[in-house]
Amino acid sequence: MADKIPALRLNTIGQLVENGYALRLDCVSCAEGADVDLEALIRQLGADFTLPELRRHAACPRCGGAVTLSMRLAAAGPKPAGHPMAIRLRPPAPPRR
Ligand SMILES: [Zn+2]
Repeated sequence: MADKIPALRLNTIGQLVENGYALRLDCVSCAEGADVDLEALIRQLGADFTLPELRRHAACPRCGGAVTLSMRLAAAGPKPAGHPMAIRLRPPAPPRR
């Protein structure tokens, strides 16, 4: 029997960084996709920002469409070349007047 791998708790973007994960976003509509600059995101949102919240609010910077999140272990070494995908966050609720 294979040993079970203990499940990591990856609920926040801070935990992704702590555990050496990279986060990639792919647009459902226009197939734009790239790694997210997690450190910039943490500066913007805080390390306790949760992944479900991120999924709800993230939008493709090109077309504004929904994106999918995928996580993977980041390889040791420099980040791959290219621009990290800038996440456009939708406001949590429309302003009321
Ligand atoms: Zn798009």
